[in-house]
Amino acid sequence: MAVSANQMTTVGHFIDGQHVPATSDNVQDIYNPATGQVSGQLQLANQDDINKAVAAARQAAESWSQVSLTKRTKVLFSMRELLVKHTDEIAAILTAEHGKVLDDAKGEVGRALEAVEFSCGIVEHLKGEYSPQIATEIDTYSFRQPLGVVAGITPFNFPVMVPMWMAPMAIATGNTFILKPSERDPSAPMRLAELWREADLPDGVFNVLQGDKLAVDGLLQHPDVDGISFVGSTPIAKYVYENGIANGKRVQALGGAKNHSVVMPDADIDQAADVLNTAAFGAAGERCMAISVAVAVGDAADELAEKLRERANRVVVSEGTNPDADMGPLITPQAKERVERIIGEAADDGCTLMTDGRDFLVKGNEEGFFVGPTVIDNVKTDMSAYKEEIFGPVLVIMRVASLEEAIQLVNSNPYGNGTSIFTSSGSAARKYQRDIKVGMVGVNIPIPVPVAWHSFGGWNDSLFGDLHVNGPDAVQFYTRNKVVTQRWPEPEHDVNASFSFPTHE
Ligand code: NAD
Repeated sequence: MAVSANQMTTVGHFIDGQHVPATSDNVQDIYNPATGQVSGQLQLANQDDINKAVAAARQAAESWSQVSLTKRTKVLFSMRELLVKHTDEIAAILTAEHGKVLDDAKGEVGRALEAVEFSCGIVEHLKGEYSPQIATEIDTYSFRQPLGVVAGITPFNFPVMVPMWMAPMAIATGNTFILKPSERDPSAPMRLAELWREADLPDGVFNVLQGDKLAVDGLLQHPDVDGISFVGSTPIAKYVYENGIANGKRVQALGGAKNHSVVMPDADIDQAADVLNTAAFGAAGERCMAISVAVAVGDAADELAEKLRERANRVVVSEGTNPDADMGPLITPQAKERVERIIGEAADDGCTLMTDGRDFLVKGNEEGFFVGPTVIDNVKTDMSAYKEEIFGPVLVIMRVASLEEAIQLVNSNPYGNGTSIFTSSGSAARKYQRDIKVGMVGVNIPIPVPVAWHSFGGWNDSLFGDLHVNGPDAVQFYTRNKVVTQRWPEPEHDVNASFSFPTHE
């Protein structure tokens, strides 16, 4: 069944090139978070569905891994064109189920597009290495081959971009792919599956398995799954990593974040406040790269706090389809409750609520899961507002005396996804980027999101595994290296058949 932004949908799986209704009656509601109304039902996989998806991917892997690079590239170029053509339609589906504003949803599709474009250059990325005449008449060379069947388990906050960080490169390198998207917003991934089919990707190469923990555990345990890419919260990332590797799979698991932005006294405070406001409240703070902590150094603090208050008060909160909206609702009533609880605890802890987004009502959408932009000053490291990943429209301000203290604060945090510094000093910026223990760093940039040509990923509790997604790391993750040493001796030539370990002569 095709999916659209407006109709009440029943969402099942996409296996072996077809929409497949689930074989179980285990269903879950899908919401429109702006209205709070149920918009569809999701059919969750049982063991039978898991087996079907893996069997289809395993069978397709035999032939897909043999398809020439030029033919694979053609599919990727077609997928690129289809994504461009359907950007508005996919964005509307994203807004309907995730809640983010339409422009932001289009931006998400744009980021997915970049990942496809990077994969279109796969011929270049798979060039091997060659050492001729490494010993007499012996050449040694290496090339990379696909893992086989790879599963992608993805979070709710980027239901198109994150799957497309994974699938295009997995497919380009010759693997088949099973996507297990978030239960919260499963329709856009189904539209991707239809577009892959339209791009002439053979059946079984891209599959979507809807489900919850049972589906994830099924993929982690299935002997025919060779690799797992995961993006989500830290506890689940750790769980997926530990169980995946215990079952002999290659795993990369990207976790949660608490991204700090350091504002030096020599920064342009107006500019810093403008961009921190958007970095904290864009997508209602439901971005792994959202800035959730502003670290104000020395004299910067009072002015920054006041300017952040002014800007937060001007953010237009409304349903994502409203062209004037800057930010939409949170994903679930539980997310709204959790964020409001943390704001309340910060107030109880004695922090200053510069703005308070609790009990926020949007006229005409009173049942929507909205929280207003919230700025909390004077937060300390032992408070829940600092310790928890809030994942909502809350920006906390911490005050420190020096750059060194700021660096120590950021490096003591268990996460290490993204960070940035605002300064007009080259030496402060240089010190920060070198000393900070975080995977992605911005200088006078609010959200240091790298482009698809560079790898994306954090350090510490923001990544379990060795390789990031996107860029050169993705090529490595989805392939294994093979080294060949060859000799073609003429019959009349003596070969050195020796019991001693060979020397290269
Ligand atoms: P989540 O961890 O709840 O869910 C992610 C995936 O894991 C989903 O597909 C879900 O079905 C599955 N899952 C959930 N609970 C499970 C369990 N007990 N056992 C097995 N599987 C389970 O994350 P979310 O709430 O969907 O997404 C938000 C989180 O993702 C935030 O922590 C955010 O920082 C993180 N995130 C990180 C990045 C990054 O690049 N590091 C990017 C996007 C989101």
